[in-house]
Amino acid sequence: MTESGALPDDASAVRSALVEWYEDDHRSFPWRETTDPYRILVSEVMSQQTQLSRVEAAYRDFLEEWPDVEALAAADRSAVVGFWSSHSLGYNNRAKYLHEAAGQVCREYDGSFPDAPGELQELMGVGPYTANAVASFAFNTGNAVVDTNVKRVLHRAFAEIQNADDPDYETVANALMPAGESRIWNNAIMELGGVACQKTPRCDEEGCPWREWCYAYQTGDFTAPDVPTQPSFEGSRRQFRGRIVRALSNHDELTLDELGPKIRVDYSPDGEHGREWLEGLLSDLADDGLLDIKESGNRTVAKLSE
Ligand code: SF4
Repeated sequence: MTESGALPDDASAVRSALVEWYEDDHRSFPWRETTDPYRILVSEVMSQQTQLSRVEAAYRDFLEEWPDVEALAAADRSAVVGFWSSHSLGYNNRAKYLHEAAGQVCREYDGSFPDAPGELQELMGVGPYTANAVASFAFNTGNAVVDTNVKRVLHRAFAEIQNADDPDYETVANALMPAGESRIWNNAIMELGGVACQKTPRCDEEGCPWREWCYAYQTGDFTAPDVPTQPSFEGSRRQFRGRIVRALSNHDELTLDELGPKIRVDYSPDGEHGREWLEGLLSDLADDGLLDIKESGNRTVAKLSE
């Protein structure tokens, strides 16, 4: 374990796997195509409590109207508030604060945003989370972002977090982030939480790069701070079906007791998650024509269908 007490020894492999996964493919949002702090601030303020799909259209319209911080600072507040409510962006105070923040940047910083999270936080309506996001995505100077999605990922991935009474997410998140890489890192871990490690996780479907380290993936316990009860049985059952197919694709055939530990760390032949549980999954997969089960001596052996 590292000094944070929660990261695996091969933390650098964990980091690279996530960054590569993100670079390979990710959702495209217009604010990911820019490092302009004004645009990033607009997207961050809009995204608070508003669905991303709705934010995207509003973001484009807003920037057409007020393309830079000077334009917004010079706008009538009533026009900005009117835009906010006509685009159903939630609390109008956020429009007022955004307008005020634009004025501050023009008056106090000569139109150039400060790049340190602490200074960004001085802007009207900009809290620690938004300041850190703008610092990361615009200037690459932020700390690790810790939002609900990131907490869910960390909680599931690391045993020490999952088993702690009062986990210190910030310390772990910052220990995990490669130094000076907040832009790509925060994008990548937020993408992981938004796409693969959703409330109902899609570990195999989205090719989560942390499956080989992830504690939840090994144990099948996908609860998280915002997922207090196990996601639907079918959800986790699907996970295990995926794991069985993957394990068998690396072997000609496997007995139950060879296969079990490969798909969950707490497999024990006679335990709750033992042979009987595994046979249930195998027989579903056999019914779907994905694998063949045969008895060999007194052992059950499974192999992928040809
Ligand atoms: S393996 Fe699944 S549960 Fe673990 S981090 Fe990836 S998506 Fe989340």
